[in-house]
Parts: sequence; structure tokens; C-alpha cells
Amino acid sequence: MESRRGFIRNTALATAALQVGAVSNIFAKSNTSKGKKGKMKLSFMPYTLELAHVFTLATSSRTSTPDVLTKIEFDGLVGYGEASMPPYLGESIESVCSFLSKVDLSQFNDPTEMEKILDYVDNIAPLNKAAKAAVDIALHDLVGKIIGQPWWKIWGYDTGKMPDTSYTIGIDKPNVVRQKTKEAAPYKILKVKLGRDTDKELIETIRSVTDKPICVDVNQGWTDRNFAVEMAHWLSEKGVVFIEQGMPKERVEDNAYLTEHSPIPTFADESFQRLPDVIKCHGVYSGINIKLMKSTGLREGHRMLELARALNMKIMIGCMTETSCGISAAAQLAPMVDYADLDGNLLIKNDAFSGMKIVDGKVTLNDKPGIGAIPTKTLKFP
Ligand code: MG
Repeated sequence: MESRRGFIRNTALATAALQVGAVSNIFAKSNTSKGKKGKMKLSFMPYTLELAHVFTLATSSRTSTPDVLTKIEFDGLVGYGEASMPPYLGESIESVCSFLSKVDLSQFNDPTEMEKILDYVDNIAPLNKAAKAAVDIALHDLVGKIIGQPWWKIWGYDTGKMPDTSYTIGIDKPNVVRQKTKEAAPYKILKVKLGRDTDKELIETIRSVTDKPICVDVNQGWTDRNFAVEMAHWLSEKGVVFIEQGMPKERVEDNAYLTEHSPIPTFADESFQRLPDVIKCHGVYSGINIKLMKSTGLREGHRMLELARALNMKIMIGCMTETSCGISAAAQLAPMVDYADLDGNLLIKNDAFSGMKIVDGKVTLNDKPGIGAIPTKTLKFP
């Protein structure tokens, strides 16, 4: 057991060293002639996301999502970031702004010292994952712009293997579900929120319109493991390709039982937050759902991905409702995942960025440096 832990620790460390070393080397080549030094400046502004449809989960409904946009300026370049805070995660515009007001980046004069900077940010407070992600994403955007490359290229990823992205059909009346299923025509995989007593009816309603593959997110809604296994078999027969967070996150043995007896893979979402959770989820779920708002951003999201691959786990890259800023950042990891669930920007009416696009149901990355997103409106940062 100890040697397994040691292996895992070493894998994570080797990955981190590789990433940071690569960035420093590229920067050394691209910036020696300039030799400029300045100070970094972080700014942030609240930006409430207006949802296109009322969004209903097993436990709540809402019409907007609190969000905070960030930017880091350095040497004439600007990196953008974002914190999205669906209310069930316990962060708010107030808590994010309070955290960001404590972040003093003026003490650093080299943005490529990402490890040092992001360790400092992570140690300001134990939680505040979305707020930390907002700094991490803006810093990655800035450093990518300094290097002159998008992160998927810095990491050496192959965009020939991009995943299809799923499109979420919320819980609703059958006629609305049928309509939404038709609107989802460009997408090759549909995502459905389950965890209510109308689950089978909802799946049958979608099946009356299309036979596309479906993935389901139960959001911890199944409380009996035998019922969960029974549902897994029924869903598999209905063309469902995987189950996300079938049972409550603290019920480790029940989730492991479901994974063992399910004919289709299971993914951890609520159970999976930070890097050490990759180890905790190994053997309990078939795979993990990486979201930047949980992982504190791209630095740790990238490590999760590398570690999960080393452990032969399946990987999904997911999102909250976010602008194209956060979505484009997450998409940098997409060439290395099994499934993408990056539709958060399509669910809002007031996107403030243009970036990653879905073409023919697939995530497609652009060549723009950094995270590949640019503002589409004037953002009045204070
Ligand atoms: Mg989920």
C-alpha cells in the first residue's frame, strides 16, 4: 500500500515538474531579448449570468448564476479569468470578492513563476475553490500570451482526438423535454439530470424523439444501492452510456458497489473536488469529472488528468454555468479526456467572451494564445 501511495505521489510530482519546467524553458527563449520586469495587477468585477432556461436539479431550481470576472495585467498584456458559483457549492459573489481582495500579486514580478504564485493563492484560505480558479485561469491566460501559445499546445496535446460534448436537457414537462431534445440536434450526446421519481418517464420521453447516446447525472439522488444497480441496468438497455454521481458522496461503499455491478461506467462529481480525491475515487468510481471551479483551476485540473490517466481511470471535463472564458480554459484539457461536458456557456444569455466553439457536436480549440477567449464587450473592471 505504501509503495502504491509513493508511486502515486511521485507520478503527481513528476507531472508538476514537467509542466513547470516546460513553461520556464519556453519563457526563457521567448523573453530574454525583452528582459522587461513589471508588477502584476489583479482586478475583479461581479457579473451575474442570466440563464436561457430555468435550470432544475434534483434539489433546486434557478434562473441566474453568480459569477465574478478577473483580469491580471502585466507588461501590457492582459489575462482573463472567472469564478462561477452555483449556490449549492457554498460560494457567493461576496465570498469570492472578499477572497480576491486579499490576493496581492504586486509582490511577484514574473508571472511564469506559476507554482510560487498559485501556492501563495492556495494558502490564503482553505476553501474558496472558485475564487482560486479565477486567479489561476487569468494567470494561465496571461502566461500563455507571454509565451505566445495556447495551453493545449504548451502541453503538447493532439487536437485530432477531440471528444464530443454533451448537451444538458433539464428536468421539465414532457412537451418541453421533447422540444429541448429537438433543439439539441447539433449534439451527439445528451446529458440528462436524474434523481427524481420521474426518471424513467424522462428517459422514455427523450427516447420518443431520438436514439442518440445519453449520459445521466443523478446528483447523488439514488439512496438505495440495489435500486441504483437496477436503474443502471435499465438505463444501459435504454442506450445510456454512463452514470454520474449515482449515490450520495459520503456513501463510499455503496458507490463502489454500484460501480462493480453497473454494466456502464460511473463517474464521481460531488465526491471529487481536489487532487487527493483522485486517489480516493480510484476503485470507487470508473472515472472522475474534472471541473475548474472545483480543482482551483488549470494547474490542479491538469495534474488530476495526468494522475487519473496513470491510474487508468476514465476522465470527463465538466463545467458550471460559465462564460466562454471559463469554458475555453477547461477546453484546453479536452484533447486528453474521454468525455466533455462543456455546454455551460450555451446555457446563458449574456456571455461576455468568445472562445472555444462546438462544431458538429465536438469541442474545437483555436490557436489564440493563453486560454483562447477574448471579451466580446467592454468589461468595466474597477
Ligand atoms: Mg454533476
